[in-house]
Amino acid sequence: MDANITKRNELLAQKTIEGLKSRNMEGYYASSKEKALKIALELIPEGSSVSMGGAMSVHEIGLSEALKEGDYNFIDRDAYEDKRQAMLMAYDADFFLSSCNAMTDDGILVNIDGNANRVSAIAQGPKHVIFIVGMNKVCSDIDSAMKRARNVAAPINTQRFGLNTPCSKKGTCFNCKSPDTICCQILITRFSRHKGRISVILVNDDLGY
Ligand code: SF4
Repeated sequence: MDANITKRNELLAQKTIEGLKSRNMEGYYASSKEKALKIALELIPEGSSVSMGGAMSVHEIGLSEALKEGDYNFIDRDAYEDKRQAMLMAYDADFFLSSCNAMTDDGILVNIDGNANRVSAIAQGPKHVIFIVGMNKVCSDIDSAMKRARNVAAPINTQRFGLNTPCSKKGTCFNCKSPDTICCQILITRFSRHKGRISVILVNDDLGY
């Protein structure tokens, strides 16, 4: 990563971590993907049950592979024929891993979801939630975070999954009511009632969409 970008990311991360703290959430800054992996593994004790939503960022830092290979009970929903069973197990996991579609530099997280398994597990259920967030997803306010979620993350994800939505064809949001919409549920996480439940690892890299 370019030294000037790194300096800017460090400064922005400091502000974001302060914002998270004011919202009863923990923030960490990782100067590289490797350091992000190290922090995440320090937060998850061996023997823990761990589940995750569809999160490219978790794969990109090598965390899902490390958990599969390590001494953890990794609930790999792709390995379950009964997806509902895997989802129900996720709600009772010690840790749930996710990224976000966008967040603000004062610590508010924005997530959109079609099936809502991800946003529901973020909101309630798993004992701990760890977000892996590339600095490319940190926005200046809630309006720009919502715009990023709808106009950057969603069009790429709908293309990725071959969904028939206006954004997959035009590259921007049309506030659709398409049967394929992935904007069924929009979760804004602005405070954690339970201290220590939500941690965010900010990574000095572009991760996910
Ligand atoms: S509302 Fe529809 S068009 Fe807009 S981002 Fe969501 S799926 Fe795409």
